[in-house]
Amino acid sequence: MKKHNFFAGPSILSDYTIKSTAEAVIDFAGMGLSILEISHREKEFIAVMDNARSLVKELLDVPQGYDVVFMGGGASTQFCMVPYNLLETKAAYVDSGTWASKAIKEAKLFGEVEVIASSKDANYSFIPKNYTVSDDIDYLHITSNNTIFGTQMHQFPDAKGHLVADMSSDIFSRQIDVSKFDIIYAGAQKNLAPAGVTIAIVREDALGKVSRPIPSMLNYKTHIKDESMYNTPPVLPTFAALKTLEWYKQLGGVAAIEKINIEKAGMLYDAIDNSKLFKGTAVAEDRSLMNVCFVMNDEYKELEDQFGKFAKERGMMGIKGHRSVGGFRASIYNAMPKTSIQALIDTMKEFEKNI
Ligand SMILES: *Cc1c(COP(=O)(O)O)cnc(C)c1O
Repeated sequence: MKKHNFFAGPSILSDYTIKSTAEAVIDFAGMGLSILEISHREKEFIAVMDNARSLVKELLDVPQGYDVVFMGGGASTQFCMVPYNLLETKAAYVDSGTWASKAIKEAKLFGEVEVIASSKDANYSFIPKNYTVSDDIDYLHITSNNTIFGTQMHQFPDAKGHLVADMSSDIFSRQIDVSKFDIIYAGAQKNLAPAGVTIAIVREDALGKVSRPIPSMLNYKTHIKDESMYNTPPVLPTFAALKTLEWYKQLGGVAAIEKINIEKAGMLYDAIDNSKLFKGTAVAEDRSLMNVCFVMNDEYKELEDQFGKFAKERGMMGIKGHRSVGGFRASIYNAMPKTSIQALIDTMKEFEKNI
């Protein structure tokens, strides 16, 4: 049976990414050796790193004055690396979900943190808006897409160019103006590669302004200077990332991908809104194009387990909602084909017909 991959992370990758990575595990770049067993200092791997870096720049139209780095540690290490490198006196954070609140917890170790807006009291069902950003902050941290709650920031706040964004779950899904940001970071396992590599896009001018010493591995400057090769990089995930980036370019780049994502999410939200069984959990204007969260209407609530089983029997994998929201979550990242979304919609309709 065809499986449809709705896992939230690690999550679906393109066939091209999976197949080319599998080939490189057997024989990398015609070397007659696996990519798992060669030095990262060989020219064949240096080319992987260089090409991945330049494709990130090309796809996101990264302006002069920014560097792209590939690191280990996941987005969670960025929660600490960002304040380590940027927070001298005070930073502002928008608390829009579980990941945002984890970033806030780390930042508090380094200086004053002002949580300028939060939707926690509404179980993070919307993106906080209408707050003011004061001039005396080192940066404003936001989470562009809240993977767990299915909300997405469709408009970025004005922080006079000093925005920092966790884009782990929607990077490369839509066009962004990189020049608004000091740092953009993303763990790879939502929209790019297997877990293990994290990318950051860093404005050079933003660095070097804090008075504390920074350990080498947690200093962006180290990774910039050594072109993501200060220590052994996550070789295989970086290779897979390159393959996904090549595939994004073949699709026509981020603008083309964004158009498809709007269509794909629209199909699923329409099906939810037109069903008598299901309802979305996120406020409509803040709905995510990447993570679609929905539950059963109160009068059908007891059917949730039954639907979960029904859907799994039809090949729908990973649609169980996160425990903090309940119900269901269909993660429909860039690599998710329209046919899988249609299969989920058909499954929902079939279940509803039998009620
Ligand atoms: C998954 C996720 C994280 C955590 O990433 P790790 O790589 O597991 O540390 C952080 N932020 C967002 C928005 C995420 O979706």
